[in-house]
Amino acid sequence: MRVVVVPAPIVASGHGTPTVCARHGEPATSRHELVFRSRVPGWLVLLYLVIGPVLAALIAVLIQRKVPTPAWPFCPRCDQSLLVRRVVLAAIFAVAGVCGAVGVAGIVLAGDGQSGVPVFALVVTALLIFAGLRAVTLATRGRVANGYVAENGMTVEFRNPDPEFLRQIGAAKAEFHRYMTAGQPVVSAPPPF
Ligand SMILES: [Zn+2]
Repeated sequence: MRVVVVPAPIVASGHGTPTVCARHGEPATSRHELVFRSRVPGWLVLLYLVIGPVLAALIAVLIQRKVPTPAWPFCPRCDQSLLVRRVVLAAIFAVAGVCGAVGVAGIVLAGDGQSGVPVFALVVTALLIFAGLRAVTLATRGRVANGYVAENGMTVEFRNPDPEFLRQIGAAKAEFHRYMTAGQPVVSAPPPF
């Protein structure tokens, strides 16, 4: 998998942001203010099974690294991908809600909590909530753009970027490097970073 690593100040400043989307390399038809976030660590996924979804989600929010950006480019295919992800996410939580209601109602009606079907429904509910919490991060614009903040919070990584996006972000990185080494912008004033 090809990964391009971009210093966080380039992403956060918006200076040198490509005019094409990262995923498809197509000209942007919309730009959005968004926040790139770090990955949910694997140990937290396991911890979810022990401490439950609420605490796990709270920890995920507390430990994640964020890099905001003012106007990130998206093409129509990106927008379509985001829509599909959000529809799937809504469906997961809708089915989880139905299973949860069936489980609780079944246990209340059975009275002893030993009935197999309601317990099975609650297990399915827990698994769907688990899947849904994973899908929440996938249904964000930062994930559609394939951007992940590194654990140290200093860079944003883009997975499998389109070559044109790669070329444009490479130019922004080169100017950033020149600015950092020369102490002033080479091309334009005011200072871009
Ligand atoms: Zn796109």
